[in-house]
Amino acid sequence: MTQGPPADSDGRGARLASLLKLSEEPIVGLSATPDDPMRRHTTLRLGGPADLWCVPDHAEALAALLSRTHSAKIPVTFVGGGTNLLVRDGGLRGVVINLRRLNRVSQPRKDTEPELVAVEAGASTGRVLNYAITRALGGVEFLAGVPGTVGGGLIMNAGTYLGEFIDVVVEVESLNLRGDLVRRSNTECGFRYRDSALPKDELITGALLRLRPRPLEEIERDVAKLREHRRQREPMGVPNNGSTFKNPEGDYAGRLIEAAGLKGHRRGGAVVSEKHANWLVVDREVAPPCSSRDLIGLIEHVEDAVERAFGVRLLREVKIIGED
Ligand SMILES: Cc1cc2nc3c(=O)[nH]c(=O)nc-3n(C[C@H](O)[C@H](O)[C@H](O)COP(=O)(O)OP(=O)(O)OC[C@H]3O[C@@H](n4cnc5c(N)ncnc54)[C@H](O)[C@@H]3O)c2cc1C
Repeated sequence: MTQGPPADSDGRGARLASLLKLSEEPIVGLSATPDDPMRRHTTLRLGGPADLWCVPDHAEALAALLSRTHSAKIPVTFVGGGTNLLVRDGGLRGVVINLRRLNRVSQPRKDTEPELVAVEAGASTGRVLNYAITRALGGVEFLAGVPGTVGGGLIMNAGTYLGEFIDVVVEVESLNLRGDLVRRSNTECGFRYRDSALPKDELITGALLRLRPRPLEEIERDVAKLREHRRQREPMGVPNNGSTFKNPEGDYAGRLIEAAGLKGHRRGGAVVSEKHANWLVVDREVAPPCSSRDLIGLIEHVEDAVERAFGVRLLREVKIIGED
């Protein structure tokens, strides 16, 4: 456990840990790392430090942390797998909460309603898919190759051509910043294409999904097909966020970016992928190394160039957060 600041730290993280009294009154089951670089926690491998990166082991530790951040009026940011996040070079102020250790997947009414699956927000999407496969439950095949956690997936209404979270969610549970539990039905979540109306200041803690019994061969066939489809189209082995932009109504962001002649276009170490133009990726072979500023500059350039060429302003799927 790394609770409390390192002895020689005089950074923001150390001050914050002391404001939260983590040394005098440690929170049992909380790992708190001061000044933790967000490049360690995002698939883009970019971003400045989180003042205090906090990972609770259980719900009690999470509740204790939220109670202290609330009384001390400290800003809180939630990060899941960091697969859709571009953190600016100055990093994240305040406490950053990650739920990767709250990752249970279960069948709460196994005997009467085996198709109901409860998922904690820190469970990886891969874990949820495997759970469903081993029980011959269909409905989450769409998660094949979608990285990240349930929490981030719900916020984003993540999905593929096989479906999206809106298709399987019964209800979502979250905590507001005072630590009160809030439950929302599927329609109250306001799911839409790669977005939801789930409040930004609530921490998603879990969801209840309704799957359906399905022959295993059919599930495996769909999953294998989706994985192969992705393997052929998507860049591999370079830091990325998947699709950078949402597809505009009736068209594809990748098609527009390619038609604007932007494939291979770069800014510093940030590049429009040659394999799929809607994937803006990081070239790790360049010096100086790619910064978030490079990638944000490239995103803005693509937005302007596509608008000039086609009169369409692309909307971002990637979430840009933090300070310059
Ligand atoms: C290789 C690759 C392929 C991808 N393919 C797809 C795809 O096919 N389809 C697709 O939809 N997406 C895709 N993505 C994007 C990404 O995987 C999804 O958006 C994913 O659902 C994000 O989940 P996450 O846990 O990583 O969220 P993060 O990136 O960590 O966060 C995303 C948002 O959710 C919020 N958040 C995260 N957890 C919580 C929580 N517990 N409570 C409250 N807020 C929270 C964050 O604050 C942020 O606003 C891909 C990304 C990569 C890198």
